[in-house]
Amino acid sequence: VPELLIGVDVGGTAVKLGALTREGSVRDEVVVEVGGRSAGPILDDVAEAVRGLAADGWSRALGVGLPGLLDRAAGVVLASPNLPWIEGVDVRAELARRLDLARERVVIENDANVAALGEQWLGGARGAQDVLLVTLGTGIGGGLILDGRLFAGDGGMAGEIGHVKVEPGGRRCGCGRHGCLETLASATAARRRALERGLPPEKPGSLRRLSAAARAADGPERALLHEIGRDLGHGIAAPLMLLDVRTYVFGGGFSAALDTMEAGIRAGLGEWAYGGRESVVTLAGATLGPAAGWIGAARLVR
Ligand SMILES: [Zn+2]
Repeated sequence: VPELLIGVDVGGTAVKLGALTREGSVRDEVVVEVGGRSAGPILDDVAEAVRGLAADGWSRALGVGLPGLLDRAAGVVLASPNLPWIEGVDVRAELARRLDLARERVVIENDANVAALGEQWLGGARGAQDVLLVTLGTGIGGGLILDGRLFAGDGGMAGEIGHVKVEPGGRRCGCGRHGCLETLASATAARRRALERGLPPEKPGSLRRLSAAARAADGPERALLHEIGRDLGHGIAAPLMLLDVRTYVFGGGFSAALDTMEAGIRAGLGEWAYGGRESVVTLAGATLGPAAGWIGAARLVR
């Protein structure tokens, strides 16, 4: 009987779970809807789903990806603006009790970090030992893998590429500082920059028109995406210089436009990174989609 690894990814509207083998062969996926409930009933349903996935034999350990700022030792989410139901809940103890596990058998990690682990194990960065996952969404998230292992740092804040400053004196960022990469190259920023240029507004949640126009013709859309790419290149020049991380995997909705930004990214790297290394960098799209989180969470307990 293969020993199954189980991962849980806690999100805003749903909790995704799944089971796979140590070799990375996916066996099953389940979704638990959050639906405006409180932590108790949601975690009851999650535990029930874990028992279902575990029926064929499992490692009796659980990896859990959680959004927001974590206190790893206490097992608590300190702050998660989009998921108030989980704030202050000792997820480790609550799930361990429901599953009759020792508390140490439930491992928690930030959601961006588990997504990076998932993509490095089975996704767009498969086989690479040093990887930065760059998530281009409402903001820009990041997760850093060094030597094949998650590098979260003492406070778990490593890999926050979105708040690397690339434009001194630039626009104010959600973090309170100015000119962070996120203010220039998130999906939100791309939408704003397109409007500033007088380009037609995009449908909410999509930048499909912009990237399609950039692919079709050498016009203002292509120029804008090249510029956004350059800004991304300036941002990832920092991890390239400091750590020689050469594999960058782009996830999030806006990453669908990666092909239209790649030349810009390499140009930006050429301007800001020393040693001609823009040519040795691998730029790849994330391939696991929303499964990256639970797969990476399962990887935590392998
Ligand atoms: Zn910032």
